[in-house]
Amino acid sequence: MPKIQLLSSRLANQIAAGEVVERPASVVKEVLENSLDAGATRVDIDVEAGGSKLIRVRDNGSGIPAEDMELALARHATSKITSLEDLECVGSLGFRGEALASIGSVSRLTLTSNANEQGSEGSSAACEGREMEVQRKPAPHPRGTTVEVRDLFFNTPARRKFLRTEKTEFNHLEEVVKRLALSRFDVAFTLRHNGKVVHSLKAASLQAESQRRVAAICGPAFMEQAIAIESAVPPYRLSGWVGLPTFSRSQADLQYFFVNGRVIRDRLIAHAVKQAYRDVLYHGRHPAFVLYLELDPAQVDVNVHPTKHEVRFRDGRAVHNFIFSSLHRALADVRPGRESGGDPLAERLLATDDGMAIDTATGEIRSQSPLAWGAPTAAGRPGMAGRAYGSSAPTAAQVGAQLQGYSRLHGLPAAGTPEEVPPLGYALAQLKGVYVLAENAHGLVLVDMHAAHERITYERLKAARDESGIRSQPLLVPQSVAVSQREVQVATEHSALFQRLGLAVEEGGEESLVIRQIPVVLRDSNVEQLVRDVLADLIEFGSSERIEAHMDEILSTMACHGSVRANRRLTIPEMNALLRDMEETERSGQCNHGRPTWIQMGLDELDTLFLRGR
Ligand code: ADP
Ligand code: MG
Repeated sequence: MPKIQLLSSRLANQIAAGEVVERPASVVKEVLENSLDAGATRVDIDVEAGGSKLIRVRDNGSGIPAEDMELALARHATSKITSLEDLECVGSLGFRGEALASIGSVSRLTLTSNANEQGSEGSSAACEGREMEVQRKPAPHPRGTTVEVRDLFFNTPARRKFLRTEKTEFNHLEEVVKRLALSRFDVAFTLRHNGKVVHSLKAASLQAESQRRVAAICGPAFMEQAIAIESAVPPYRLSGWVGLPTFSRSQADLQYFFVNGRVIRDRLIAHAVKQAYRDVLYHGRHPAFVLYLELDPAQVDVNVHPTKHEVRFRDGRAVHNFIFSSLHRALADVRPGRESGGDPLAERLLATDDGMAIDTATGEIRSQSPLAWGAPTAAGRPGMAGRAYGSSAPTAAQVGAQLQGYSRLHGLPAAGTPEEVPPLGYALAQLKGVYVLAENAHGLVLVDMHAAHERITYERLKAARDESGIRSQPLLVPQSVAVSQREVQVATEHSALFQRLGLAVEEGGEESLVIRQIPVVLRDSNVEQLVRDVLADLIEFGSSERIEAHMDEILSTMACHGSVRANRRLTIPEMNALLRDMEETERSGQCNHGRPTWIQMGLDELDTLFLRGR
């Protein structure tokens, strides 16, 4: 008896299914991707019991010719690629030719399809996990394909045990549908669960329709408080929407990133986005985004993971850099009177008729962002003395609650308003020593003066540092750090980076580094740990902002202490100076902790409050 045996095709398929078919959601992903690959413009998904009882997907795509039906269900059978060259620039979502075979090996699968332009003839093929032979028979079906998957894992009880509650499974499945719906605005989707319509998304061609879909999927609040992104540096293009820092989330649950139409999760990209939000997001909060990266398919390898959730970029550093700088620029411009991201907002942000209330009249980015963040100015000189003004940072919960209280933001002056009125208008008064009230072309502006001043002070401290360079001091006793050879090498390669940041890091031996000099601001910090973390970043992402981040944190604390505190009386000229500084300071739409610094209450909003004009 030979010890080595070929696996039966059923067992081989079931093993493959282990990778590809984890739960009902994975079935829906594979089947929907096939529909999209077949050029469908409408896809209807019916699900029962969270998908474990039934998943039925019907599309109006190109269909499968009768003679190909068996092959469609066979492993390693695909119509999408024929050669290695094809694989290197694959344009379809699928190409491994194993999804239907895998699904069929762990469920009762029926495939019904018709590839003819006219006529309703078609054929169906069924396979049932246990016996893998396929039975084909004629069946009426309009052009397109229906895939019906019943009783998932009926023959693999171990797998079935891993399924969670119907609700949990459905949530996963719905998430898959949402992602695909965000990847293809031109395709109509419906999703029904136990006979009830959960999503009904019309095909969108106009920008406003696309926005409506994003709002339906990500919630209207996201669209109201998002900045449109449009950035291109050949060979890369990035578009989509990112939430304002003040629209941050407690979880990373509203983050969609597409690479050439394929939704992916990638550490490199996550890092680039996080880095872009670094200076504007409250600690521990997560940004929300729907972003589309497009690049030459040859620049990205999608064949690194069976479910293709991960990709590998030819030039990961360039991609990281491009994403970081695109978003960083857009976020720096979140300030009063500024279009953010340099995006043609007017085009992208139209009002929709389902209550999303995006103000088209303004055509300004701020119109979506009710919130701005401020920076301090005239009043308090950045006090380096570190007097405690008791302006403790709000907790994440406080920020969240605060944000909920804000009504949706309105934009700046509509076209036709006098040019001379600055975006934040002119100060009227101060309320309870906390808020500045101002009038601009649109109505009432409310500014949290401490929050605003803090940001201004902070940005100034950073600017001063950047201008005059970082002051650094030699260590009395140089600090030696044990690292790997690779880390020594990376540290040497990047010695200029360390130098620029005021650190002298030198090779101390094959596996050690010596820190001889550090920035004065980092005097009380754990510089060794910082250097280690930076090296880890450099190895993984090719860049690191940890040192800057750490110094910024210290500056931010100084800014907080040096800023005008609540209950300080400001004169009208001081208030106006604050408003002007806010308009000129980058990131002034939010304070250093990610809270808004100002809100706009439009006249229309005030009118509504007083039931005027009804
Ligand atoms: P892959 O998508 O990797 O090619 P699959 O097992 O998912 O492998 O599908 C096998 C083949 O069946 C596809 O290459 C395609 O030709 C055909 N097919 C599957 N689903 C559809 C569909 N909805 N419409 C048209 N053809 C389909
Ligand atoms: Mg497929």
